[in-house]
Amino acid sequence: MARIVKKFGGTSVGDVDRIRNVANRVARAVKEGHEVVVVVSAMSGVTNQLVAYCRDAAPLHDAREYDAVVAAGEQITSGLLAICLQELGVPARSFLGWQVPIKTNSVHGSARIEDIPTEKLEACLKEGRVAVIAGFQGIGDDGRITTLGRGGSDTSAVAVAAAIKAERCDIYTDVDGVYTTDPRIVPRARKLDKISYEEMLEMASVGAKVLQTRSVALAMKHGVRTQVLSSFEDKPGTLIVGEDEIVEQEVISGIAYSRGEAKVTVVGLNDRPGQVSHLFGPLADANINVDMIVQSASDNGEATDVTFTIPEDDLLRAVKILKEHKDQLLYQDIQYNGEVTKVSVVGVGMRSHAGVARKMFDTLAEKGINIQVISTSEIKVSVIIDSEYTELAVRALHTAYGLDAPAASA
Ligand code: ADP
Ligand code: ASP
Ligand code: MG
Repeated sequence: MARIVKKFGGTSVGDVDRIRNVANRVARAVKEGHEVVVVVSAMSGVTNQLVAYCRDAAPLHDAREYDAVVAAGEQITSGLLAICLQELGVPARSFLGWQVPIKTNSVHGSARIEDIPTEKLEACLKEGRVAVIAGFQGIGDDGRITTLGRGGSDTSAVAVAAAIKAERCDIYTDVDGVYTTDPRIVPRARKLDKISYEEMLEMASVGAKVLQTRSVALAMKHGVRTQVLSSFEDKPGTLIVGEDEIVEQEVISGIAYSRGEAKVTVVGLNDRPGQVSHLFGPLADANINVDMIVQSASDNGEATDVTFTIPEDDLLRAVKILKEHKDQLLYQDIQYNGEVTKVSVVGVGMRSHAGVARKMFDTLAEKGINIQVISTSEIKVSVIIDSEYTELAVRALHTAYGLDAPAASA
């Protein structure tokens, strides 16, 4: 008998029939004698709809109320799954974030989990009942409902698995594992049997939305045995493991992209000490995560241009903040573009192989794709390009790094 956390994503709970399918899977695990805690997402499309309602109500809205709205999707699926389990004769009950409680900080819209007291979950399991937890939500230290950022149910699941010391965390989704890149845009992507925590963390952080970045960071920190697998087919998925468990290491293990980026250029910023600090301080205070930063050489020592990238969702807020600080900041103009994509190649093999970045630049040049910003870390190279070329860039890079699956023989 094992203690297992199973998480089901939006497509897997997309309608009541699919929720029944999930209930059957959970029932099977219970019959095998396992203790099961389930974490569910909202039905596919529901969170997007709720986000759109908030934007429609006011483009710049109160983040606490945003959380009250967008947390609603998971409430529905947790209750429906508990009902479907009961129909199968499996005792079950739903838990909203605050009922567990999943305690978070109060950074609304992207809260971090701080603590999960386990008494209630333990009592539920002891009674022989399945606990069905609404993912994505928590309760902030301000006493209000919080959400964990898009894709946050993955993090709910791994955090619960760590808290209740589960043997495994199974993340069921609409693909059957982690691939060398998004299989929806590169049909020749290859499924990986295993991927290291480090690489999965980097892949997720640069846009591979199959797992939320924080879920991978938590799995790595607490050594939670995590696997990604299909909720529709019974076949092995991808196991996230320590680097030492990977026998044959490729130089590049994957390519990721993120369309949700925006590029901002502050033109003619006064080139004197303190200006960059004045520029990024207010953005940090507003919890806007700045990713890439480029400062150009200054024009005869007087003015410089600073370009940076932020999540597209924060663009309006960032521009508003920069305009509010114009007096202190001394710049000529702000230019911005929300139609950019970050494309990244990731692999721990980069530590010991030269020429990875060059191959990326050569490949994009051959396709006539202009690189707008570049950044590198120990195990990744990222570039910002025009969103229009996303698919072309990802496919070309996938082939260039030899990642394409062998063509299926007829
Ligand atoms: P869920 O609703 O189950 O959480 P998501 O849509 O958040 O599902 O994540 C699964 C999706 O992630 C897949 O449908 C796929 O398009 C996308 N994806 C992006 N990169 C990868 C990758 N490297 N491997 C597998 N899936 C990926
Ligand atoms: N429903 C939330 C979202 O769409 C959380 C999740 O599915 O993980 O982002
Ligand atoms: Mg997801």
